[in-house]
Amino acid sequence: MNPAQSTQGTVKERAGVALNNDFLRNAVKFTTERLRSGKQAASAEHGNWEEWRERGRQIRLHTIAHLDYYLNLFVENARSNGVHVHFAPDTAAATDIVMTIARNKQAESVVKSKSMVSEELHINRALELAGIETIESDLGEYIIQLAGEGPSHIVIPAIHKNRYQIAELLSEDAGEELPPDTTILAGYVRRKLREKFLGADIGMTGCNFAIAETGSMVLFENEGNARMVTTLPKTQITLMGMERIIPSWEDLEVMATLLPRSATGQRLTMYMSGITGPKRTGDGDGPEEMHIIIVDNGRSEQLGDPEFQELLNCIRCGACLNVCPVYRHIGGHSYGGTYSGPIGAVLTPALNRNVAEWDDIANASSLCGACSEACPVKIPLHDMLVYLRRRKVERGHGNRWETLGMKGFAVLMANSKRLNLALKMGRIAQKPVVHNKGITLKIGPLKGWNTYRVAPSMADHSFRENWQELSKDTRRTAPPMNAETRDRMEQILRQRRASGIQGGHHE
Ligand code: SF4
Repeated sequence: MNPAQSTQGTVKERAGVALNNDFLRNAVKFTTERLRSGKQAASAEHGNWEEWRERGRQIRLHTIAHLDYYLNLFVENARSNGVHVHFAPDTAAATDIVMTIARNKQAESVVKSKSMVSEELHINRALELAGIETIESDLGEYIIQLAGEGPSHIVIPAIHKNRYQIAELLSEDAGEELPPDTTILAGYVRRKLREKFLGADIGMTGCNFAIAETGSMVLFENEGNARMVTTLPKTQITLMGMERIIPSWEDLEVMATLLPRSATGQRLTMYMSGITGPKRTGDGDGPEEMHIIIVDNGRSEQLGDPEFQELLNCIRCGACLNVCPVYRHIGGHSYGGTYSGPIGAVLTPALNRNVAEWDDIANASSLCGACSEACPVKIPLHDMLVYLRRRKVERGHGNRWETLGMKGFAVLMANSKRLNLALKMGRIAQKPVVHNKGITLKIGPLKGWNTYRVAPSMADHSFRENWQELSKDTRRTAPPMNAETRDRMEQILRQRRASGIQGGHHE
């Protein structure tokens, strides 16, 4: 496991470290703010964003509901295009397939474009252990590879680093002092990678979408490196999660509208490549041999699960991370897995089939729902986080005190007299520790909250008590309704009854 992807300690402990790292917090805040406002502007400019979100959701729901059919169609078409298609049920199988191809090709070096699936499978480590040089060609991935870290954001892997830290890393790589100037730094990486592209035996990519009707794969990117990876090396390996499928190129139009706008606020990324098989006779470039490895790794277990199947609809845009108040404070590495933010908090336990190990990850959310609102395919992430918490408790991994507290709360809420009595007793009991309408004690469940804030004390009067008083006052002081108003109201009521409206608020 990458040092930055560690389940050691709890999310809370890792978040504690991140919260004390001002560089990280400022860098994450700066970039997520830029991405978030970019997305807002791009979706507003689109004009029919909500309709397209719904279309995107319907396409993903339909595809995942018929995944067996579309996967078969994709595989048949890809094979007839001359692609070698492999299935990998888990990390070990996927790694084995990659290593077999690399051995058969006597590969000494692999150049990669950005691929979250390869991060999930820890492919770099396996290749490097076999003595095969592995070079990330995406700028952000190259930076975190130099730092020996994993990605801390789905789209911007080095989001947690500022330009001074990046200049330091690249200066060490270059063996000379490079200024913290983004153009100069990007220029250095471009020159360095060009040599690597030309000498690489294998090009490895991920896959944004796989088109079932033609067996093609589609890549979105801004740097042009994926295009180099898919044209220069003689052998290409594409790693794709089994849910990357969409039925047709027509559906891609919707995805190509939703993905770049949600990810980076762009109408379209600088490059969008559609690849349908290896190089053919007469083609100027392209790989001579192409392999697609379709990875399951826990995905099929979500199929048929009414609470989590929609996880497979995710198009990995990262928009939910950019709006998440928790992610924006603690960054991606605090989550401990390859995927971070709200989608990571749900996807990581799902893919790892080990809820116990990832027990606390669902707590890294305030359940504000910003993630679900931002999601271009409307995945109900905050509901899933609640389901995860419920499953944890059902499996006996809940916090004993929390469970006890909830049981007590249920007993009180079931009876208004009991609730009133508890409120009165609570008000008396809190008196010794209340100062300026706040409680500052740092013990028990108040410790975490009161380290940074002041818990409000119970109000002197409950809402019910205030309401009763207010009602009495209103009855005493309200003037009688004048005849004209009463007639008007009766008329409205008659009309409502006639039209079948029984009551409530209608707009
Ligand atoms: S869950 Fe939605 S918002 Fe988050 S990465 Fe996936 S598609 Fe994007």
